[in-house]
Amino acid sequence: MEDGWAQALAERSALGLLRQTEVLQPAPGMRPLYHDAAGRLLLSFASNDYLGLARHPALREAAQQSFAVGEFGSGAAPLLGGERRQHAELAAALASWLGVEAVLLFGSGYLANLGVFGALTSAQDHLFLDRLAHASLIDGARLSGARLQRFRHNDLEHLETLLRKPRSGRAWIVSEGVFSMDGDLAPLPELLALAQRYDAALILDEAHAFGVLGREGRGSVEHWQCDGDALILRIGTLGKAFGSYGAFVASSAFPICWLQQAARSYLFHTALPASLAAATLAALPLLQQAQDRREHLQRLRQRLQAGLHGRPFLPSQTPIQGLILGSNAAALAAAAALRAAGIYCPAVRPPTVPQGQARLRISLSAAHSIEDIEQLLHALERV
Ligand SMILES: *Cc1c(COP(=O)(O)O)cnc(C)c1O
Repeated sequence: MEDGWAQALAERSALGLLRQTEVLQPAPGMRPLYHDAAGRLLLSFASNDYLGLARHPALREAAQQSFAVGEFGSGAAPLLGGERRQHAELAAALASWLGVEAVLLFGSGYLANLGVFGALTSAQDHLFLDRLAHASLIDGARLSGARLQRFRHNDLEHLETLLRKPRSGRAWIVSEGVFSMDGDLAPLPELLALAQRYDAALILDEAHAFGVLGREGRGSVEHWQCDGDALILRIGTLGKAFGSYGAFVASSAFPICWLQQAARSYLFHTALPASLAAATLAALPLLQQAQDRREHLQRLRQRLQAGLHGRPFLPSQTPIQGLILGSNAAALAAAAALRAAGIYCPAVRPPTVPQGQARLRISLSAAHSIEDIEQLLHALERV
């Protein structure tokens, strides 16, 4: 048996598909600087901490204050004694920020997506997922037992063709507000119109949209100025622009109450440590009031795109900037060249992205400076 794994690993390695973690320790200060195991300083373009809140002292202080008294771990599932004041306050604050009736906290975005579909759908239902939807959405959809069909990325005509077919059960359209690897936006107004026309429900994963899009960071609904009530559910992670950890689902009261009864990844997980909820609660007003950070991100993006002119980068309006390199080997070589220049931006390869579209996923943060972008562009000249 050991031999089988060794061989499988060797095959992956030969294909340039072996994945390994690397220990990076944050260097002091607000910039996304890390020390690698050899002590070398690296400027990171890999983090989803878009607003730079992960290093904000307010989060640390809130977490410290919270676990200075009482317990660190919550010790139990939310429904079996794991719920604390901090969780309830966070859920209420998130609901009021988004203007929804209710919010349910989950252990992570992956867990939320794993639980939501199974709880809401029946075997006769049809789930229509964007082709580039995140792995956790696909896994959740598969696990639900509902019928699953993928539509071509942001292709409204294709989606409509699928919706037009006769069906039993309910139809659900599933997409991401901002796509995690391409950084482009789902056309929310058009998706809502299709949902209405074909009596489908729309679920939006806002992992990369909350905190990034909208004047007060409310994501796609605020960006497109559409009616948020027309969306059945929005799913958000707290591990990205919030600079914290955990996730939540936002909706009206009944679906949330139903998820609390039926979402297995909610029922059977240990509640987040209360100190994490406290840190997130401290992050929320910072995220909401981060207009200057969001504007700074746009300036960084414009500088980067100007510098990348003529190269195969994806046209994104968000902090996620993809530079397509094609083969796994090319993407690995590019990441290594950046690394040699003191920049951490790992190669993203299949199955995270489609075959033949290996890339550098350059992730910008409001904690970067224009000089950081210059440094990146200078390093990219060697790629
Ligand atoms: C990161 C991500 C998730 C998972 O969220 P975690 O809190 O990290 O588990 C879900 N959906 C999308 C689109 C993501 O990018």
